Amino acid sequence: MSLRSSHNRKAGRPKPDNVPSSEDIARDVRRMKHEQKPAHNYRALSLEMHGMICAKCAREFDEKNKRELTVHHIDGNDANNPADGSNWENLCIHCHEDAHSRGM
Ligand SMILES: [Zn+2]
Ligand SMILES: [Zn+2]
Repeated sequence: MSLRSSHNRKAGRPKPDNVPSSEDIARDVRRMKHEQKPAHNYRALSLEMHGMICAKCAREFDEKNKRELTVHHIDGNDANNPADGSNWENLCIHCHEDAHSRGM
C-alpha cells in the first residue's frame, strides 16, 4: 500500500479551532467584494486603463516588452491606489527613473 504524503497542501487544511461559521465567511466575502482593493494588481489595471504606452515619451509596449513599462504613483504614495486609476501613470523604466530623480 503506498501512502503518498499529502499532496494537496494547497487545498487548505482545516483549522483546528476557531473555524468560522459559514455566516462569518459570507460576511467576509461580501466585505472583500465590496472593498476590492486593487493594490495587488494595480499594475495590470493601470496598463489596461491607460494603455501600454509611456505617458511621457509615448513609447509603445506590447506583450513582449511590457515588463519595461512600469506604473508610477502620481502622488508618490504607492498605497494610494484608487480604483479609477487616477493616481497611476504608465511610464517606461527610463521616464520613471527620471520622474523620481527630479521629483524629490
Ligand atoms: Zn518613457
Ligand atoms: Zn514612480
